[in-house]
Amino acid sequence: MKGNQYAVIGLGRFGSSLAKELVKLGYEVLGVDINEEAVEEMSQTLTHVVVADSTDEEVLKSLGVRNFDCAVVAIGDDIQSSILTAILLKDLGVKSVVAKALSDLHGKVLEKIGVDRIIFPERDMGIRVAHQLVSPNLLDYIDLSEKYTIAELAVPKRLTGCSLKEIDPRAKYGCSVVAINKKKGVIIAPTAVDTVEERDVMVVIGTREQIDQFEHAVI
Ligand code: ADP
Repeated sequence: MKGNQYAVIGLGRFGSSLAKELVKLGYEVLGVDINEEAVEEMSQTLTHVVVADSTDEEVLKSLGVRNFDCAVVAIGDDIQSSILTAILLKDLGVKSVVAKALSDLHGKVLEKIGVDRIIFPERDMGIRVAHQLVSPNLLDYIDLSEKYTIAELAVPKRLTGCSLKEIDPRAKYGCSVVAINKKKGVIIAPTAVDTVEERDVMVVIGTREQIDQFEHAVI
């Protein structure tokens, strides 16, 4: 088991998937849900599970939640419970409180309470899927800032054997290939003579427009 301990409150679709993945990654996870069935379903997977109402301060205290490194409020639909739980966790002094928000307003309230990280799973996944639909070779991306992005682009068959000098994204589009992920390993900071093959993945950094142009012209 790795050091950090996580409490996941609300074992719906999001919470249970998050909790399972944390266990897979080797962390201890306490799962809490008011619904007995939801808890029962996760009882074999998580380190500890408890049927409890997280809006009850005494319950949270008795679970020792304050000793956890991070607590995730994965209650969505019941906004009141989500907000009350987040306030209690902050008050109890949990180091890092993460909460899922269903709407911008819900997110704003969580921010005002002092929640350390707010996630909008449905909104963010919608945006991600839209990008991937219009750019089939875009495997994934991370926005570094308002302007800059790192994207993973799948290399199409017709670029097989081409060197970066031939593709020349920096001179033609202003974006740079910072790594090439090949079956046999990753080439970090590739040089002009490095070549790509079909199914390699190019990791490209640049503005969204530059990457978009590169992708549509070359890939
Ligand atoms: P998802 O969209 O991820 O499935 P839901 O909002 O449907 O999210 O589910 C959230 C989970 O949180 C449900 O399993 C529900 O029983 C649980 N939950 C709601 N209120 C509380 C509460 N006060 N205490 C503990 N668990 C709660």
